[in-house]
Amino acid sequence: MELDALYQEVILDHYKNPHHKNLNSSYTCQVHHTNPSCGDEITLNLDLDKDLVKDITWDGVGCSISQASASIMSTLMVGKSISQTQLILDNFTSMMQSKGKEKGDENLLEDGVALAGVSKFPARIKCALLSWMAFKDALSQSLELQK
Ligand code: ZN
Repeated sequence: MELDALYQEVILDHYKNPHHKNLNSSYTCQVHHTNPSCGDEITLNLDLDKDLVKDITWDGVGCSISQASASIMSTLMVGKSISQTQLILDNFTSMMQSKGKEKGDENLLEDGVALAGVSKFPARIKCALLSWMAFKDALSQSLELQK
């Protein structure tokens, strides 16, 4: 897999020093997602305060793409409103499905644009999306709980 060198460095950096890793005991909703085709696993705790993502903590095993992506995603989403997280989620998902055509909106995705190149490799897209889908699931379950 060939990725831009600068982007590779961003991914490796998140992989080696993952942000928000280690599960916090207080949370609104906990989910566990797996990507059997690669062996990636993530447990994600989402702590929601009304309309605000108060905290995300996670623990996981798997390839560098999946682990770096979880670090990037949680860094982005913490402190955001639910509507902001939806914009970010939509932009990232669309980029990952673009087969390398979309570079992603750097204002929205920040370090997340480093994963744009992964969308050219169908086998790895699920690795990059795993934590994002876990977040999406935790968010919708949390909103159900708040009703
Ligand atoms: Zn993987």
